[in-house]
Amino acid sequence: MSAEELSKLSLGDTMVTTRAGAARLRTHLPQTPQGSSTSSPISPTPSLIESTNGHVYDISAFDEDMRRRAKIGLIKDDNNIRMRFCGETDDGKKFFFHVDDDITIKVEEEKVPKCSCGIVQDEKACKHIFWILGHLSSVLSKDQTIQLAEDGSSVKNTHPAKLLQMSSLRDFADHFHWVVEDEDLPDTDELIDEVANMMSCFEPTGLLPAEFKSEDTRELSDLSRKFQEIRTVIAEHAIRYPAFFMQLREKCSPTFQMEVFFEKINKRIDGAFNALDEYIERGGPTNHRTESLDVESCAARLKSLVDKIEEYRDESLVSDAGERRDDTEIEKLAAVAYVRILEEVTGRNYDAYADSPWSMPMPPSDPRRNNLFVCLIGPASEENGFFVVDKLQDMAPHVVRHHGVDLGDIENRLRNTPLTPPAYLGALRMLIQEKRKRAASQSDGSSVKRTMQ
Ligand SMILES: [Zn+2]
Repeated sequence: MSAEELSKLSLGDTMVTTRAGAARLRTHLPQTPQGSSTSSPISPTPSLIESTNGHVYDISAFDEDMRRRAKIGLIKDDNNIRMRFCGETDDGKKFFFHVDDDITIKVEEEKVPKCSCGIVQDEKACKHIFWILGHLSSVLSKDQTIQLAEDGSSVKNTHPAKLLQMSSLRDFADHFHWVVEDEDLPDTDELIDEVANMMSCFEPTGLLPAEFKSEDTRELSDLSRKFQEIRTVIAEHAIRYPAFFMQLREKCSPTFQMEVFFEKINKRIDGAFNALDEYIERGGPTNHRTESLDVESCAARLKSLVDKIEEYRDESLVSDAGERRDDTEIEKLAAVAYVRILEEVTGRNYDAYADSPWSMPMPPSDPRRNNLFVCLIGPASEENGFFVVDKLQDMAPHVVRHHGVDLGDIENRLRNTPLTPPAYLGALRMLIQEKRKRAASQSDGSSVKRTMQ
């Protein structure tokens, strides 16, 4: 059977309730020759039972106890058996299925399947083994009644290990949303970190992942504290139920996380400039709803945002937690944010308080305190760094080249003011030329990984 055939199966399509399915079988299915005694009206379990996905199993050869277990494992919806994760040995001969309550079912070539629950002796199958057989046999045709060995060693005369090998454990896992150990799961620390990253997307006060994971919780609101507690509960649950973790990761993919991060960053960039405008317009905080920042505070805020983007880029490139984020996408969004900041800052090269409608007792006359441009770009040097430009320097050429026009405009502005430190202008020109050249030599546009420190 091929993976394609497997994937075509849908458990939902033929779902019948246990009771309804059993009742239908009792009334419509032909009696089996050997089922004469067991199919009598007083028998609690019919000799043919139907699984939720429509497979019919012949359990007429089983005694009453075995039938009960088979019924629980094969057709009962509320049997409380939940897969935690499964795996196989490198040689592909042994398979294990780890279910709730620390129970492990082993299926090995040419051997009778074993279960650690220890409920059944004499090499008879327990409900867990039947449960596995039910899943494995669900890929078989529904046209024929399925015969099971009472020790669980065969399904229609085929060893369950063979059924697994005919397709692959991965196919079964994909089909049933099982988690395969090693292939899918990060280790516990990474898993906790990843859950925190996911949950930070929905943090009620808009914290960024690094802020959400910070151990300093002094500034948190009551709502944020509550959210932190819920994060712990969800992380514990995700550790216990790897399938739940996988589901979370599917819904809250690295791409989604990245988009949320930059949405928050862009909102904060807007917020910083709006707060500066508010200060210029109305002075210090006039009410608690509208934030206001003077020039120096706005500059500090912008610097910290540039650093936060940088941290996020670094972390995303070295992260081992699960699927690797698409760094090209991150770089693109980061470049957009950087260039926006630079455009705005280079457009604010003037005394911000010169025309303020409100009277300031002692307006600062030093451009380092009243001019955002001077505040951020004025101190530029090899030692102090080149605000934003040094971040763009270590990005892939094609990412930066995409902003060639904007950067050209910024270069014009810088050239036309004596307040631009020559070293800064030099660094920007170098960036534009260098990236143009390197992008041309890499016309395929492939991403160049940044050199990590
Ligand atoms: Zn068992």
